[in-house]
Amino acid sequence: MEKVLILVIDGCAPAYLTEQTAPKLFALARQRGFVKTVRCAMPSVTNVNHACILSGRWPAETGVVGNYYYDPNTGCEGFIEERGYMRAPTILQRCQQAGGKTALFTVKGKVLGVYGAGADIGLSAQDPDPVLLRRYGLDWPPTIQSIEATDWIVRAACRCIEREDPDLVYCTTNDYIFHHFAPGSEPARAQIAAVDDCLAQLAASQPHRQIYITADHGMNQKKTILNFQAMADRAGLRTYCLPPLKDRYIENHIYQEGGMLYVFLKEPLQREAFLNFAQSCPQVEEVLTAAQAAARYHLPQDQIGDYVLLAGRDCAFGEVEGELLCTEASRSHGSEYEREIPLLALGALRPEKAYRYHKDIAAYLQF
Ligand SMILES: [Zn+2]
Repeated sequence: MEKVLILVIDGCAPAYLTEQTAPKLFALARQRGFVKTVRCAMPSVTNVNHACILSGRWPAETGVVGNYYYDPNTGCEGFIEERGYMRAPTILQRCQQAGGKTALFTVKGKVLGVYGAGADIGLSAQDPDPVLLRRYGLDWPPTIQSIEATDWIVRAACRCIEREDPDLVYCTTNDYIFHHFAPGSEPARAQIAAVDDCLAQLAASQPHRQIYITADHGMNQKKTILNFQAMADRAGLRTYCLPPLKDRYIENHIYQEGGMLYVFLKEPLQREAFLNFAQSCPQVEEVLTAAQAAARYHLPQDQIGDYVLLAGRDCAFGEVEGELLCTEASRSHGSEYEREIPLLALGALRPEKAYRYHKDIAAYLQF
């Protein structure tokens, strides 16, 4: 069976992973691989994209359209943190069914919660299993909002590979650092340096293992944050506005600010009034019906409300006091502008041009 490691660096826009920040991995890619820019799925948020990377499929098939759900029929809502949401089989499950051994390493606990089915070994830095810490000789993990958390989880995955050699290892980080520091900053460089050291060493000792390094989404500075729910309320429009990025990792984005918004209309007769209102808002770059958004982004039409709004490059929809906040302190994602992500591959199964999206990695694996 083929040996595979997929590392998903959470929120790693292409500008973070460069020849300067990861010289060892880039040198290896020149010898036996490639580095290119590919695209993630929309909305460019964590849960949606792990589902795609793990299955090789679009959200229309995975059924995962955000970090948070809302059911307009029952009014139920909540964070997506446990099993039961993912509809497509994952490569962890496919590998396991083919008789392979699998492992999932993650800084964010919810990744193990939602996608852990099919993982023979599952370890999160947020809620670590002490038995696994002892088994791999690991210290108790640092806080998940740290550079050290990335270093820790990547080292944990490498330690597991050295000792037990699982066939498929999926490892992912937290985007806390990239939410707070731009490309070129010292913390961002330090995070990539940790990955560069650890994985270059692993690649040298395991030349037969396919190694793919990619991201779930990119990251950009957001200067204007719009409380679209408050604006719609004031205009007398009865809506429920859901930012699909919304999660419990509030240290990453304190206003839950993201570049895409699902709008559920509570009053069907307000369709036209809503459309006029949303189109007249200068920060809203595009207003799509659910049918248009589903067709363009391969989303399940019945899970994304009635309208999907897209923000401009430096704008986001968020839960701020009042209706509008101008800030210099926000970096976030969710929009079209955070779709570009890197793919660094060593020993890939297909030639470089065959990979256009991160999900193509899983689509080409043989188990
Ligand atoms: Zn993410």
